[in-house]
Amino acid sequence: MTREIHHFIDGRSFIGTAERQGDVFNPSTGEVQARVGFATPDEVDRAVAGARTGQAAWAAMNPQRRARVLFRFKDLVEQEMDSLAALLSSEHGKVIADAKGDLIRGLEVIEFACGVPHLMKGEYTESAGSGIDVYSMRQPLGVVAGISPFNFPAMIPMWFMGMAIATGNALVLKPSERDPSVPVRLAELWMEAGLPEGVLQVVHGDKEAVDALLHHDDIKAVSFVGSSDIAHYIARTCTEQGKRFQAMGGAKNHGIIMPDADMDQVVKDFLGAAYGSAGERCMALPVAVPVGEDTAEEFVTRIKAEAESLQVGVSNDPNAHYGPVVTSTHKARIESYIQMGVDEGADLLLDGRGFSLQGHENGFFIGPTLFDRVKPEMKSYQEEIFGPVLQVVRASNLEEAAALPSQHQYGNGVAIFTRSGLAAREFAAKVNVGMVGINVPIPVPVAYHSFGGWKRSAFTDTNQYGTEGIRFFTKIKTVTQRWPSGDIGDQAFVIPTMQ
Ligand code: NAD
Repeated sequence: MTREIHHFIDGRSFIGTAERQGDVFNPSTGEVQARVGFATPDEVDRAVAGARTGQAAWAAMNPQRRARVLFRFKDLVEQEMDSLAALLSSEHGKVIADAKGDLIRGLEVIEFACGVPHLMKGEYTESAGSGIDVYSMRQPLGVVAGISPFNFPAMIPMWFMGMAIATGNALVLKPSERDPSVPVRLAELWMEAGLPEGVLQVVHGDKEAVDALLHHDDIKAVSFVGSSDIAHYIARTCTEQGKRFQAMGGAKNHGIIMPDADMDQVVKDFLGAAYGSAGERCMALPVAVPVGEDTAEEFVTRIKAEAESLQVGVSNDPNAHYGPVVTSTHKARIESYIQMGVDEGADLLLDGRGFSLQGHENGFFIGPTLFDRVKPEMKSYQEEIFGPVLQVVRASNLEEAAALPSQHQYGNGVAIFTRSGLAAREFAAKVNVGMVGINVPIPVPVAYHSFGGWKRSAFTDTNQYGTEGIRFFTKIKTVTQRWPSGDIGDQAFVIPTMQ
Protein backbone atom coordinates (compact mmCIF):
# COMPACT_ATOMS: atom_id res chain seq x y z
CA MET A 1 0.00 0.00 0.00
CA THR A 2 1.23 3.50 -0.81
CA ARG A 3 2.40 5.48 2.20
CA GLU A 4 0.23 8.49 3.15
CA ILE A 5 1.76 11.75 4.35
CA HIS A 6 -0.42 13.77 6.73
CA HIS A 7 -0.53 17.28 8.12
CA PHE A 8 0.92 18.04 11.54
CA ILE A 9 -1.44 20.10 13.66
CA ASP A 10 -1.45 20.83 17.41
CA GLY A 11 1.44 18.55 18.16
CA ARG A 12 0.33 15.48 16.28
CA SER A 13 -0.29 13.95 12.90
CA PHE A 14 -3.57 15.18 11.46
CA ILE A 15 -5.37 13.14 8.85
CA GLY A 16 -7.31 15.51 6.66
CA THR A 17 -10.09 14.74 4.24
CA ALA A 18 -7.48 14.59 1.46
CA GLU A 19 -10.11 15.39 -1.14
CA ARG A 20 -7.18 16.22 -3.35
CA GLN A 21 -3.80 14.50 -3.18
CA GLY A 22 -0.34 14.81 -4.68
CA ASP A 23 2.05 12.06 -5.75
CA VAL A 24 5.43 11.96 -4.07
CA PHE A 25 7.89 10.19 -6.34
CA ASN A 26 11.11 8.36 -5.81
CA PRO A 27 12.98 10.24 -8.56
CA SER A 28 15.62 7.50 -8.81
CA THR A 29 13.05 4.89 -9.86
CA GLY A 30 10.22 7.04 -11.18
CA GLU A 31 7.77 5.27 -8.87
CA VAL A 32 5.15 6.94 -6.69
CA GLN A 33 6.40 6.19 -3.18
CA ALA A 34 3.79 8.14 -1.19
CA ARG A 35 0.71 10.31 -1.46
CA VAL A 36 0.23 13.59 0.32
CA GLY A 37 -3.24 14.86 1.18
CA PHE A 38 -3.84 18.52 0.38
CA ALA A 39 -5.38 20.74 3.04
CA THR A 40 -8.80 22.25 2.42
CA PRO A 41 -9.36 25.87 3.48
CA ASP A 42 -11.16 24.53 6.58
CA GLU A 43 -8.14 22.48 7.52
CA VAL A 44 -5.86 25.49 7.03
CA ASP A 45 -8.25 27.43 9.26
CA ARG A 46 -8.00 24.76 11.92
CA ALA A 47 -4.18 24.88 11.80
CA VAL A 48 -4.21 28.68 12.12
CA ALA A 49 -6.67 28.55 15.03
CA GLY A 50 -4.44 26.05 16.87
CA ALA A 51 -1.43 28.24 16.15
CA ARG A 52 -3.19 31.26 17.64
CA THR A 53 -3.92 29.36 20.81
CA GLY A 54 -0.34 28.07 21.10
CA GLN A 55 1.33 31.35 20.26
CA ALA A 56 0.26 33.44 23.26
CA ALA A 57 1.92 31.26 25.90
CA TRP A 58 4.98 30.71 23.73
CA ALA A 59 5.47 34.46 23.27
CA ALA A 60 5.08 34.97 27.03
CA MET A 61 7.89 32.50 27.77
CA ASN A 62 11.19 34.28 28.35
CA PRO A 63 13.49 34.18 25.32
CA GLN A 64 16.18 32.19 27.09
CA ARG A 65 13.72 29.37 27.73
CA ARG A 66 12.55 29.51 24.13
CA ALA A 67 16.19 29.28 23.05
CA ARG A 68 16.63 26.10 25.11
CA VAL A 69 14.01 24.41 22.94
CA LEU A 70 16.03 25.40 19.87
CA PHE A 71 19.22 23.96 21.37
CA ARG A 72 17.43 20.65 22.00
CA PHE A 73 15.93 20.62 18.50
CA LYS A 74 19.39 21.10 17.00
CA ASP A 75 20.74 18.15 19.01
CA LEU A 76 17.86 15.94 17.90
CA VAL A 77 18.36 16.76 14.22
CA GLU A 78 22.06 16.02 14.55
CA GLN A 79 21.29 12.68 16.17
CA GLU A 80 18.93 11.84 13.33
CA MET A 81 21.09 13.22 10.55
CA ASP A 82 21.52 9.93 8.68
CA SER A 83 17.87 8.92 8.56
CA LEU A 84 16.69 12.46 7.77
CA ALA A 85 19.22 12.71 4.93
CA ALA A 86 18.10 9.34 3.55
CA LEU A 87 14.43 10.40 3.65
CA LEU A 88 15.18 13.76 2.06
CA SER A 89 17.31 12.21 -0.66
CA SER A 90 14.66 9.58 -1.48
CA GLU A 91 12.00 12.23 -2.21
CA HIS A 92 14.15 14.99 -3.69
CA GLY A 93 16.73 12.95 -5.59
CA LYS A 94 19.81 14.82 -4.35
CA VAL A 95 22.69 12.60 -3.20
CA ILE A 96 23.15 11.89 0.51
CA ALA A 97 26.06 14.33 0.91
CA ASP A 98 23.90 17.12 -0.55
CA ALA A 99 20.95 16.07 1.62
CA LYS A 100 23.18 16.40 4.70
CA GLY A 101 24.31 19.81 3.44
CA ASP A 102 20.62 20.80 3.17
CA LEU A 103 20.09 19.85 6.82
CA ILE A 104 23.34 21.36 8.08
CA ARG A 105 22.78 24.74 6.42
CA GLY A 106 19.31 24.81 8.00
CA LEU A 107 20.77 23.96 11.40
CA GLU A 108 23.16 26.89 11.12
CA VAL A 109 20.13 29.20 11.13
CA ILE A 110 18.76 27.36 14.19
CA GLU A 111 22.15 27.88 15.88
CA PHE A 112 22.00 31.58 15.07
CA ALA A 113 18.43 31.78 16.39
CA CYS A 114 19.60 30.28 19.71
CA GLY A 115 20.99 33.77 20.34
CA VAL A 116 17.46 35.19 20.38
CA PRO A 117 17.67 36.67 23.91
CA HIS A 118 20.40 38.96 22.62
CA LEU A 119 18.93 39.41 19.13
CA MET A 120 15.55 40.62 20.39
CA LYS A 121 16.95 43.23 22.72
CA GLY A 122 15.65 46.71 22.08
CA GLU A 123 17.37 50.07 22.47
CA TYR A 124 17.38 52.46 25.39
CA THR A 125 18.02 56.15 25.65
CA GLU A 126 18.36 57.66 29.07
CA SER A 127 17.19 61.27 29.54
CA ALA A 128 15.85 61.85 26.07
CA GLY A 129 14.09 64.78 27.72
CA SER A 130 14.09 66.04 31.25
CA GLY A 131 13.40 62.91 33.33
CA ILE A 132 12.30 61.09 30.22
CA ASP A 133 13.73 57.80 29.00
CA VAL A 134 12.91 56.09 25.73
CA TYR A 135 13.15 52.39 25.09
CA SER A 136 12.10 50.06 22.32
CA MET A 137 11.17 46.41 22.34
CA ARG A 138 10.75 43.81 19.65
CA GLN A 139 7.55 41.83 19.86
CA PRO A 140 6.44 38.82 17.83
CA LEU A 141 3.85 39.32 15.08
CA GLY A 142 1.54 36.46 16.14
CA VAL A 143 0.83 33.66 13.66
CA VAL A 144 2.95 33.71 10.52
CA ALA A 145 3.15 31.48 7.44
CA GLY A 146 6.17 29.97 5.68
CA ILE A 147 5.83 28.57 2.15
CA SER A 148 8.81 26.62 0.84
CA PRO A 149 10.04 25.18 -2.49
CA PHE A 150 11.02 21.60 -3.29
CA ASN A 151 14.73 22.13 -3.71
CA PHE A 152 15.75 22.59 -0.06
CA PRO A 153 13.09 20.69 1.90
CA ALA A 154 15.04 20.97 5.18
CA MET A 155 17.10 24.16 4.96
CA ILE A 156 14.38 26.58 3.91
CA PRO A 157 11.74 25.33 6.39
CA MET A 158 14.48 25.68 9.04
CA TRP A 159 15.13 29.29 7.95
CA PHE A 160 11.48 30.02 8.78
CA MET A 161 11.39 27.83 11.89
CA GLY A 162 14.52 29.30 13.44
CA MET A 163 13.60 32.92 12.92
CA ALA A 164 9.82 32.82 13.40
CA ILE A 165 9.66 30.43 16.36
CA ALA A 166 12.62 31.84 18.29
CA THR A 167 11.08 35.31 18.17
CA GLY A 168 7.86 34.06 19.79
CA ASN A 169 5.60 33.59 16.80
CA ALA A 170 3.66 30.48 15.84
CA LEU A 171 4.50 29.23 12.35
CA VAL A 172 2.18 27.54 9.87
CA LEU A 173 4.48 25.88 7.35
CA LYS A 174 3.26 24.88 3.89
CA PRO A 175 6.17 22.84 2.52
CA SER A 176 6.56 21.75 -1.08
CA GLU A 177 4.07 19.03 -1.97
CA ARG A 178 6.82 17.29 -3.93
CA ASP A 179 9.01 16.34 -0.94
CA PRO A 180 6.91 16.91 2.19
CA SER A 181 8.15 14.15 4.56
CA VAL A 182 11.22 15.82 6.08
CA PRO A 183 9.32 18.95 7.22
CA VAL A 184 6.83 16.68 9.03
CA ARG A 185 9.64 14.75 10.70
CA LEU A 186 11.24 18.05 11.73
CA ALA A 187 7.93 19.10 13.31
CA GLU A 188 7.91 15.86 15.32
CA LEU A 189 11.44 16.59 16.51
CA TRP A 190 10.37 20.09 17.62
CA MET A 191 7.75 18.43 19.82
CA GLU A 192 10.37 16.12 21.30
CA ALA A 193 12.51 19.18 21.95
CA GLY A 194 9.72 20.66 24.07
CA LEU A 195 7.97 23.05 21.70
CA PRO A 196 4.40 23.60 22.91
CA GLU A 197 1.54 22.33 20.75
CA GLY A 198 0.36 24.63 18.00
CA VAL A 199 3.53 26.69 17.76
CA LEU A 200 4.54 24.82 14.61
CA GLN A 201 1.85 23.52 12.27
CA VAL A 202 2.51 21.83 8.94
CA VAL A 203 -0.20 21.85 6.28
CA HIS A 204 0.34 20.31 2.88
CA GLY A 205 -1.12 21.41 -0.39
CA ASP A 206 -0.79 23.58 -3.42
CA LYS A 207 -2.31 26.91 -4.51
CA GLU A 208 -5.54 26.28 -2.59
CA ALA A 209 -3.77 25.92 0.76
CA VAL A 210 -1.45 28.85 -0.02
CA ASP A 211 -4.41 31.07 -0.91
CA ALA A 212 -6.18 30.12 2.30
CA LEU A 213 -3.12 31.30 4.23
CA LEU A 214 -2.74 34.48 2.19
CA HIS A 215 -6.35 35.46 2.81
CA HIS A 216 -6.49 34.46 6.48
CA ASP A 217 -6.93 37.42 8.82
CA ASP A 218 -4.91 35.76 11.57
CA ILE A 219 -1.82 35.29 9.40
CA LYS A 220 0.23 38.39 10.09
CA ALA A 221 3.19 37.77 7.77
CA VAL A 222 4.21 35.44 4.96
CA SER A 223 7.72 34.29 4.17
CA PHE A 224 7.88 32.64 0.75
CA VAL A 225 10.67 31.00 -1.26
CA GLY A 226 10.01 29.58 -4.73
CA SER A 227 9.80 30.60 -8.37
CA SER A 228 9.49 34.25 -9.43
CA ASP A 229 5.97 34.30 -10.85
CA ILE A 230 4.58 32.76 -7.67
CA ALA A 231 6.78 35.02 -5.51
CA HIS A 232 5.35 38.02 -7.34
CA TYR A 233 1.83 36.71 -6.82
CA ILE A 234 2.53 36.30 -3.09
CA ALA A 235 3.89 39.86 -2.95
CA ARG A 236 0.84 41.32 -4.72
CA THR A 237 -1.66 39.37 -2.65
CA CYS A 238 0.02 40.17 0.66
CA THR A 239 0.12 43.84 -0.30
CA GLU A 240 -3.61 43.78 -1.02
CA GLN A 241 -4.25 41.94 2.23
CA GLY A 242 -2.10 44.34 4.22
CA LYS A 243 0.29 41.61 5.30
CA ARG A 244 4.02 41.81 5.81
CA PHE A 245 5.83 39.56 3.34
CA GLN A 246 9.17 38.45 2.00
CA ALA A 247 9.03 36.55 -1.30
CA MET A 248 12.20 35.08 -2.79
CA GLY A 249 12.10 34.01 -6.44
CA GLY A 250 14.11 32.26 -9.13
CA ALA A 251 17.64 32.82 -10.30
CA LYS A 252 20.15 32.64 -13.12
CA ASN A 253 23.56 33.15 -11.60
CA HIS A 254 26.65 34.07 -13.60
CA GLY A 255 30.27 33.16 -12.89
CA ILE A 256 32.77 35.54 -14.51
CA ILE A 257 36.17 34.03 -15.27
CA MET A 258 38.96 36.57 -15.66
CA PRO A 259 42.08 35.67 -17.66
CA ASP A 260 44.17 35.69 -14.45
CA ALA A 261 41.90 33.24 -12.59
CA ASP A 262 43.21 29.96 -11.19
CA MET A 263 41.71 27.72 -13.88
CA ASP A 264 42.15 24.46 -11.91
CA GLN A 265 40.02 25.93 -9.14
CA VAL A 266 37.53 27.48 -11.57
CA VAL A 267 36.83 24.19 -13.34
CA LYS A 268 36.43 22.38 -10.04
CA ASP A 269 34.11 25.09 -8.72
CA PHE A 270 31.90 25.09 -11.82
CA LEU A 271 31.59 21.31 -11.78
CA GLY A 272 30.12 21.46 -8.30
CA ALA A 273 28.15 24.68 -8.70
CA ALA A 274 26.63 24.04 -12.14
CA TYR A 275 25.96 20.31 -11.91
CA GLY A 276 25.79 19.57 -8.16
CA SER A 277 22.32 18.68 -6.92
CA ALA A 278 21.41 18.37 -10.64
CA GLY A 279 21.50 22.17 -10.89
CA GLU A 280 18.38 22.45 -8.71
CA ARG A 281 19.80 25.18 -6.49
CA CYS A 282 18.81 28.83 -6.54
CA MET A 283 22.48 29.62 -5.93
CA ALA A 284 23.76 27.25 -8.65
CA LEU A 285 26.10 28.68 -11.27
CA PRO A 286 24.47 27.82 -14.62
CA VAL A 287 26.15 30.59 -16.66
CA ALA A 288 29.92 30.84 -17.20
CA VAL A 289 31.30 34.06 -18.64
CA PRO A 290 34.95 33.64 -19.65
CA VAL A 291 36.64 36.93 -20.48
CA GLY A 292 38.77 36.78 -23.62
CA GLU A 293 39.00 34.06 -26.28
CA ASP A 294 41.99 32.26 -24.68
CA THR A 295 40.18 32.02 -21.33
CA ALA A 296 37.06 30.76 -23.11
CA GLU A 297 38.92 28.09 -25.11
CA GLU A 298 40.73 26.76 -22.05
CA PHE A 299 37.62 26.80 -19.86
CA VAL A 300 35.36 25.13 -22.42
CA THR A 301 37.90 22.39 -23.25
CA ARG A 302 38.55 21.58 -19.61
CA ILE A 303 34.99 21.78 -18.29
CA LYS A 304 33.74 19.59 -21.14
CA ALA A 305 36.29 16.87 -20.33
CA GLU A 306 35.49 17.01 -16.61
CA ALA A 307 31.70 17.23 -17.00
CA GLU A 308 31.74 14.21 -19.31
CA SER A 309 33.25 12.13 -16.53
CA LEU A 310 30.73 13.12 -13.85
CA GLN A 311 28.91 10.16 -12.37
CA VAL A 312 25.14 10.44 -12.41
CA GLY A 313 23.48 7.87 -10.17
CA VAL A 314 20.65 7.00 -7.83
CA SER A 315 20.44 9.37 -4.90
CA ASN A 316 21.84 6.91 -2.35
CA ASP A 317 24.83 5.92 -4.49
CA PRO A 318 27.85 7.23 -2.53
CA ASN A 319 29.87 7.49 -5.74
CA ALA A 320 27.32 9.59 -7.64
CA HIS A 321 28.14 13.27 -8.13
CA TYR A 322 24.48 14.04 -8.61
CA GLY A 323 21.17 12.23 -8.82
CA PRO A 324 17.89 12.55 -10.73
CA VAL A 325 15.81 15.70 -10.96
CA VAL A 326 12.68 15.92 -8.86
CA THR A 327 9.85 14.87 -11.21
CA SER A 328 9.30 13.73 -14.78
CA THR A 329 7.52 17.04 -15.44
CA HIS A 330 10.59 18.97 -14.36
CA LYS A 331 12.78 16.65 -16.42
CA ALA A 332 10.67 17.36 -19.52
CA ARG A 333 10.87 21.10 -18.84
CA ILE A 334 14.67 21.02 -18.62
CA GLU A 335 14.86 18.97 -21.83
CA SER A 336 12.65 21.47 -23.60
CA TYR A 337 15.11 24.24 -22.65
CA ILE A 338 17.96 22.16 -24.07
CA GLN A 339 16.04 21.88 -27.35
CA MET A 340 15.35 25.62 -27.21
CA GLY A 341 19.09 26.31 -26.90
CA VAL A 342 19.74 24.15 -29.95
CA ASP A 343 16.98 25.87 -31.93
CA GLU A 344 18.34 29.29 -30.94
CA GLY A 345 21.74 28.39 -32.39
CA ALA A 346 23.92 27.81 -29.30
CA ASP A 347 26.64 25.10 -29.62
CA LEU A 348 25.54 22.00 -27.75
CA LEU A 349 28.80 20.36 -26.64
CA LEU A 350 27.30 17.86 -24.20
CA ASP A 351 23.71 16.68 -24.43
CA GLY A 352 22.26 15.13 -21.29
CA ARG A 353 18.95 14.21 -22.87
CA GLY A 354 18.26 10.53 -23.25
CA PHE A 355 20.57 9.67 -20.35
CA SER A 356 19.60 6.26 -19.02
CA LEU A 357 20.86 4.50 -15.92
CA GLN A 358 20.93 0.75 -16.18
CA GLY A 359 18.33 -0.80 -13.90
CA HIS A 360 16.72 2.63 -13.32
CA GLU A 361 15.43 3.38 -16.79
CA ASN A 362 12.33 5.16 -15.41
CA GLY A 363 14.32 7.47 -13.10
CA PHE A 364 14.26 11.20 -13.83
CA PHE A 365 17.89 11.49 -14.92
CA ILE A 366 19.51 14.10 -17.12
CA GLY A 367 23.19 13.88 -18.01
CA PRO A 368 25.55 16.87 -17.74
CA THR A 369 24.73 19.33 -20.51
CA LEU A 370 27.05 22.03 -21.84
CA PHE A 371 26.35 24.86 -24.28
CA ASP A 372 28.95 27.20 -25.72
CA ARG A 373 28.47 30.49 -27.62
CA VAL A 374 25.19 31.28 -25.88
CA LYS A 375 23.99 34.83 -26.62
CA PRO A 376 22.17 37.24 -24.27
CA GLU A 377 19.22 37.54 -26.66
CA MET A 378 18.46 33.80 -26.43
CA LYS A 379 15.39 32.90 -24.37
CA SER A 380 17.17 29.79 -23.05
CA TYR A 381 19.71 32.21 -21.48
CA GLN A 382 17.17 34.69 -20.18
CA GLU A 383 15.09 32.13 -18.29
CA GLU A 384 15.86 29.85 -15.37
CA ILE A 385 16.38 26.22 -16.42
CA PHE A 386 17.03 24.72 -12.96
CA GLY A 387 18.78 21.59 -14.22
CA PRO A 388 22.29 20.22 -14.92
CA VAL A 389 22.84 22.59 -17.82
CA LEU A 390 25.83 24.97 -18.05
CA GLN A 391 25.70 27.78 -20.62
CA VAL A 392 28.89 29.57 -21.67
CA VAL A 393 28.49 33.20 -22.77
CA ARG A 394 31.80 34.56 -24.08
CA ALA A 395 32.75 38.18 -23.28
CA SER A 396 35.64 40.25 -24.53
CA ASN A 397 36.27 42.34 -21.41
CA LEU A 398 35.17 42.72 -17.80
CA GLU A 399 32.75 45.54 -18.57
CA GLU A 400 30.89 43.41 -21.11
CA ALA A 401 30.96 40.42 -18.74
CA ALA A 402 29.67 42.39 -15.75
CA ALA A 403 26.83 43.87 -17.79
CA LEU A 404 25.34 40.38 -18.25
CA PRO A 405 24.36 39.65 -14.62
CA SER A 406 23.63 43.34 -14.04
CA GLN A 407 21.10 43.47 -16.86
CA HIS A 408 19.60 40.02 -16.36
CA GLN A 409 16.03 39.83 -15.02
CA TYR A 410 17.28 37.76 -12.04
CA GLY A 411 19.76 39.04 -9.49
CA ASN A 412 20.23 36.34 -6.88
CA GLY A 413 23.93 35.45 -6.89
CA VAL A 414 27.01 36.11 -8.99
CA ALA A 415 30.67 35.10 -8.77
CA ILE A 416 33.92 36.46 -10.13
CA PHE A 417 37.08 34.39 -10.40
CA THR A 418 40.25 36.47 -10.50
CA ARG A 419 43.58 37.15 -8.78
CA SER A 420 43.02 40.90 -9.02
CA GLY A 421 41.74 42.42 -5.81
CA LEU A 422 40.98 45.65 -7.60
CA ALA A 423 38.87 44.05 -10.34
CA ALA A 424 36.99 41.98 -7.75
CA ARG A 425 36.41 44.93 -5.49
CA GLU A 426 35.02 47.14 -8.24
CA PHE A 427 32.89 44.32 -9.59
CA ALA A 428 31.41 43.58 -6.16
CA ALA A 429 30.61 47.22 -5.60
CA LYS A 430 28.95 47.82 -8.97
CA VAL A 431 27.19 44.61 -9.99
CA ASN A 432 23.39 44.76 -9.83
CA VAL A 433 22.96 41.47 -7.93
CA GLY A 434 22.21 40.74 -4.25
CA MET A 435 24.87 38.15 -3.30
CA VAL A 436 28.43 38.19 -4.66
CA GLY A 437 31.16 35.56 -4.50
CA ILE A 438 34.81 36.44 -5.05
CA ASN A 439 36.52 33.15 -5.95
CA VAL A 440 33.55 31.54 -4.17
CA PRO A 441 31.14 29.82 -6.56
CA ILE A 442 28.03 29.56 -4.38
CA PRO A 443 28.06 32.64 -2.16
CA VAL A 444 25.24 31.68 0.20
CA PRO A 445 25.78 34.00 3.17
CA VAL A 446 26.41 32.38 6.56
CA ALA A 447 23.54 32.35 9.04
CA TYR A 448 24.60 35.50 10.88
CA HIS A 449 24.57 37.56 7.68
CA SER A 450 21.43 37.30 5.56
CA PHE A 451 20.17 35.84 2.29
CA GLY A 452 18.43 37.72 -0.47
CA GLY A 453 18.69 38.50 -4.15
CA TRP A 454 17.62 41.52 -6.18
CA LYS A 455 15.28 42.18 -9.10
CA ARG A 456 12.99 39.23 -9.92
CA SER A 457 14.89 37.04 -7.45
CA ALA A 458 13.26 38.71 -4.46
CA PHE A 459 10.09 40.75 -4.05
CA THR A 460 10.95 42.06 -0.64
CA ASP A 461 12.89 44.59 1.32
CA THR A 462 13.90 42.19 4.07
CA ASN A 463 16.30 39.31 3.58
CA GLN A 464 15.97 35.83 4.99
CA TYR A 465 17.61 34.96 8.36
CA GLY A 466 20.32 36.88 10.20
CA THR A 467 19.32 40.10 11.90
CA GLU A 468 17.12 40.84 8.85
CA GLY A 469 15.13 37.70 9.73
CA ILE A 470 14.71 38.87 13.33
CA ARG A 471 13.43 42.21 12.02
CA PHE A 472 11.01 40.53 9.62
CA PHE A 473 9.40 38.36 12.28
CA THR A 474 9.10 41.09 14.94
CA LYS A 475 7.60 44.52 15.25
CA ILE A 476 9.07 47.37 17.21
CA LYS A 477 7.25 49.13 19.99
CA THR A 478 8.81 52.29 21.39
CA VAL A 479 8.00 53.52 24.89
CA THR A 480 8.64 57.03 26.13
CA GLN A 481 8.45 57.11 29.92
CA ARG A 482 8.60 59.59 32.74
CA TRP A 483 8.34 58.71 36.40
CA PRO A 484 7.54 61.91 38.18
CA SER A 485 8.39 62.28 41.84
CA GLY A 486 7.40 64.88 44.38
CA ASP A 487 5.76 68.02 43.13
CA ILE A 488 5.28 67.42 39.46
CA GLY A 489 3.67 70.78 39.01
CA ASP A 490 7.17 72.30 38.77
CA GLN A 491 8.24 69.81 36.07
CA ALA A 492 5.75 70.31 33.33
CA PHE A 493 5.98 67.60 30.69
CA VAL A 494 8.02 68.97 27.83
CA ILE A 495 8.25 67.25 24.49
CA PRO A 496 11.76 67.73 23.09
CA THR A 497 11.74 70.29 20.28
CA MET A 498 14.24 71.57 17.79
CA GLN A 499 14.79 74.73 19.83
P1 NAD B 1 7.33 26.85 -6.89
O1 NAD B 1 7.21 28.32 -7.04
O2 NAD B 1 6.70 25.98 -7.89
O3 NAD B 1 6.73 26.39 -5.47
C1 NAD B 1 7.08 27.06 -4.28
C2 NAD B 1 5.91 26.95 -3.30
O4 NAD B 1 4.79 27.65 -3.85
C3 NAD B 1 5.47 25.52 -3.05
O5 NAD B 1 5.18 25.36 -1.69
C4 NAD B 1 4.22 25.39 -3.91
O6 NAD B 1 3.27 24.49 -3.40
C5 NAD B 1 3.65 26.78 -3.92
N1 NAD B 1 2.92 27.10 -5.15
C6 NAD B 1 3.10 26.55 -6.38
N2 NAD B 1 2.25 27.09 -7.27
C7 NAD B 1 1.52 28.01 -6.60
C8 NAD B 1 0.49 28.91 -6.99
N3 NAD B 1 0.04 28.97 -8.24
N4 NAD B 1 -0.03 29.73 -6.05
C9 NAD B 1 0.41 29.69 -4.79
N5 NAD B 1 1.40 28.85 -4.36
C10 NAD B 1 1.95 28.02 -5.26
O7 NAD B 1 8.91 26.55 -6.76
P2 NAD B 1 9.62 25.13 -6.76
O8 NAD B 1 9.59 24.55 -8.13
O9 NAD B 1 9.14 24.31 -5.62
O10 NAD B 1 11.11 25.56 -6.40
C11 NAD B 1 12.06 25.94 -7.35
C12 NAD B 1 12.08 27.44 -7.52
O11 NAD B 1 12.38 28.08 -6.28
C13 NAD B 1 13.16 27.90 -8.47
O12 NAD B 1 12.67 28.95 -9.24
C14 NAD B 1 14.25 28.39 -7.55
O13 NAD B 1 15.15 29.33 -8.11
C15 NAD B 1 13.46 28.99 -6.46
N6 NAD B 1 14.21 29.12 -5.23
C16 NAD B 1 14.57 30.37 -4.84
C17 NAD B 1 15.32 30.53 -3.70
C18 NAD B 1 15.71 31.91 -3.25
O14 NAD B 1 16.03 32.06 -2.10
N7 NAD B 1 15.69 32.91 -4.10
C19 NAD B 1 15.69 29.42 -2.94
C20 NAD B 1 15.29 28.16 -3.38
C21 NAD B 1 14.54 28.02 -4.52
